Amino acid sequence: MKKDIVILGAGAAGLMCALSAGKRGRSVLVLEHMRQVANKVRISGGGRCNFTNVNAYSGNYVSRNPHFCKSALARFGPMDFVDMVERHSIKYYEKEAGQLFCSKGSGEIVRMLQRECSEAGVEISGDCRIDAVGKKGHFITETDRGTVESESLVVATGGLSYPELGATDIGLCIARQFGMKVTPLRPALVPLTLGQKDLSSLSELSGVSHEVGVGCKAAAFDGQILFTHRGLSGPAILQISLYWEEGEPLTIDLFPGIDANELFMARRSSKMRMDNLLSGHMPARLAKKWCELYIEPKQMNQYTEKELREIAYKLQNWRIVPDGTEGYAKAEVTLGGVDTDELSSKTMEVRSTPGLFFIGEVLDVTGQLGGFNLQWAWSSGYAAGQHA
Ligand SMILES: Cc1cc2nc3c(=O)[nH]c(=O)nc-3n(C[C@H](O)[C@H](O)[C@H](O)COP(=O)(O)OP(=O)(O)OC[C@H]3O[C@@H](n4cnc5c(N)ncnc54)[C@H](O)[C@@H]3O)c2cc1C
Repeated sequence: MKKDIVILGAGAAGLMCALSAGKRGRSVLVLEHMRQVANKVRISGGGRCNFTNVNAYSGNYVSRNPHFCKSALARFGPMDFVDMVERHSIKYYEKEAGQLFCSKGSGEIVRMLQRECSEAGVEISGDCRIDAVGKKGHFITETDRGTVESESLVVATGGLSYPELGATDIGLCIARQFGMKVTPLRPALVPLTLGQKDLSSLSELSGVSHEVGVGCKAAAFDGQILFTHRGLSGPAILQISLYWEEGEPLTIDLFPGIDANELFMARRSSKMRMDNLLSGHMPARLAKKWCELYIEPKQMNQYTEKELREIAYKLQNWRIVPDGTEGYAKAEVTLGGVDTDELSSKTMEVRSTPGLFFIGEVLDVTGQLGGFNLQWAWSSGYAAGQHA
């Protein structure tokens, strides 16, 4: 069989690339090894698909080359995707900070992509095993359904997380086969685990959540933290996991937006116990446990001014060192991927191998939590779809 373009992977990026190229009149075949297309889109955003973030810009992405994503985001940005969603009469809502979710469910986004692909004449072959790819003039893709020859080959096989949904390392293997570099990989947007010592004192807080500020190196986020039986989770922890590296401490502000020292000074002569005072500002179980672990809980009027200053500092700069992550099984994304230095940021084409493109999460471009990763899939998919 001969096609203009073969796309490996019918996920968010692959389908966006397919429909964009199909609309240009290119003959497109998408090869997908799972029965269903776009499994990650289906489960994204807890089933409601946080399909974009209207505030998306390069600062929301981590990459060895922080400028690489700019061009694609500028050519097909959040509002371009919103236009498509509106054309299909899909209802959506803004949850917070520019995050757009489907009102009914992520299935609507998948059906929209499938409809657009079918209108653009795209052929999608599911349940298809890819055995090998090569280049002899044209690209040759060998599958368990036969061999396809194509002018262009687009690799859209995503990251390594959630293997049960179809994730494999085939895209990274193809990159290496064509002599490209892959940056170091690790699970991200993932819960962090604590060592036995911390767990023995904190695991009884499992299920407790609290609004905090979390920092690691130069990165900082405000949001919910959730104590789990393995460590720490919740949106603020998932965000910081993008920046956390083994051995690094997290600094947690348990009193975000409040000057704890000021509060203590105002209550200095009170007979209220410190843990009861803190319970007014955080879950009581957390307040009591934190006091038991880190200070001597007494009545407010029994502390010296210096002691109160120190407690306030500890509360707003609680240092804790995770011992790892919950791994690819629980990670929303893979940090790292195919090195962007080897690609045109305008077209996603590999400079040294004309006709070969990489898009989406397989690349070393990883977004923060909040709709940025799907937006990258749409933007990079569109960019390649205009040129493949
Ligand atoms: C639980 C969860 C929730 C998420 N929620 C959100 C969210 O709300 N908002 C957001 O922006 N991002 C979210 N993400 C991240 C987002 O889903 C991904 O970043 C995005 O789907 C990446 O798009 P992609 O097309 O590059 O890869 P994918 O969507 O993963 O698509 C890759 C495709 O390639 C196929 N494939 C892989 N290997 C092979 C092979 N060997 N042969 C053939 N086909 C292959 C896969 O089956 C898959 O269909 C979430 C991720 C997870 C895991």
